[in-house]
Amino acid sequence: MLQKVEGIVLRASSYGESNKIVTIFSRELGKRAAMARGAKKPTSRLASISQPFTYGYFLIQQGRGMGTLQQGEIIDSMRSVREDIFATAYASFIMELVDKLIDDEAPKPQLFEILQQALHAISEEYDPEAISLFVEWKLLPTAGIYPTLHQCTNCGATDGEFAFSFSQIGFLCHRCFSIDPYIIRLSPSQVKLIRTFYTVPINQVGKLTLKKETKGFIKKIVRTIYSEQVGIRLKSQHFLDQMEKTPEFFTPRKEDPSPEED
Ligand SMILES: [Zn+2]
Repeated sequence: MLQKVEGIVLRASSYGESNKIVTIFSRELGKRAAMARGAKKPTSRLASISQPFTYGYFLIQQGRGMGTLQQGEIIDSMRSVREDIFATAYASFIMELVDKLIDDEAPKPQLFEILQQALHAISEEYDPEAISLFVEWKLLPTAGIYPTLHQCTNCGATDGEFAFSFSQIGFLCHRCFSIDPYIIRLSPSQVKLIRTFYTVPINQVGKLTLKKETKGFIKKIVRTIYSEQVGIRLKSQHFLDQMEKTPEFFTPRKEDPSPEED
């Protein structure tokens, strides 16, 4: 059966001399791996469509076992994402997170929407670190975590001071601080920002300019949830941490050719 899907290439790996196995996350089918025969040859018509981050239409021949990628039509090659090392690093992190969180082949249209919007925003040169934070907060329900952020998890109050509690997975108001000895106190603007990350669609957020410390603080909270509650730590995170620690080693150089993806 031949199927046309709208999808994004999550990853591609070499298979033999000239083939690639491409993992595509599609709006219609969810995650699928497909064999792209000859895609490693630069002259192949599948060469550009099988690159990570590529957004396009894919024609997949489904048989028993793995499908075969027959052809593709690029909607957005995400070239600007690939040409900037910071954008590439954050986009890779987002791809790996999505890849890790979905293991079945069921369609996940909302998740697809988030991924597509995130890549688009990064390609439009929005701050990739902020975009990655949006994705991390928004994907918590996909990971089975539903934080309570609109009120106090304990008493339901919506006013007062707030803190984040890992044991309650959500906010606690100042009246309830005592129920968790390890709360993280939040300023009103941090409370507002976390709610924005979790609830506002990426395409409805303007170019947020966030301070490095603000991003770092909010990131620590969400990464702790992923490592402690969800139990995942991503390979690409190590590179990101390295890059954030010593950004001077990774100064973007737009004229550099894009790195080999697989
Ligand atoms: Zn309370």
